[in-house]
Amino acid sequence: MTIPRNTRAKERILEIILASDRALSQSDVFGQVDGLCDRVTVYRVLDRLVSEKKIHKIVNVDGIINYAGCSSCDTANLHQHDHLHFSCVRCKKLSCLENHHVNVTLPLGYAVQELFLTISGICPSCG
Ligand SMILES: [Zn+2]
Ligand SMILES: [Zn+2]
Ligand SMILES: [Zn+2]
Repeated sequence: MTIPRNTRAKERILEIILASDRALSQSDVFGQVDGLCDRVTVYRVLDRLVSEKKIHKIVNVDGIINYAGCSSCDTANLHQHDHLHFSCVRCKKLSCLENHHVNVTLPLGYAVQELFLTISGICPSCG
């Protein structure tokens, strides 16, 4: 039995994201798949992994979408990411601060769908 190419690409992309100590953009991921699949497949696989609650999106301070592994989401839990993200201006590392949550209170009638919290500054390795 041969493993379909897209399944291999999906496994590899998830591995790349989980092995990384920083969030990765689509082009970072594409740079690491080593020609296993094309750019369009990378986009599709990332979308699929987000809907399967394996990874989550982070909008960086420059507006570029990055992806990082979900450590607490599974099918039983909400795919919620109200933790802070930190973007280092020196080393460009974008990290999840998983234990730092923010409570946002909205006026009556507003419902949050997505919430992106990214702080820019100097990380501990650069400070
Ligand atoms: Zn998640
Ligand atoms: Zn840094
Ligand atoms: Zn995160």
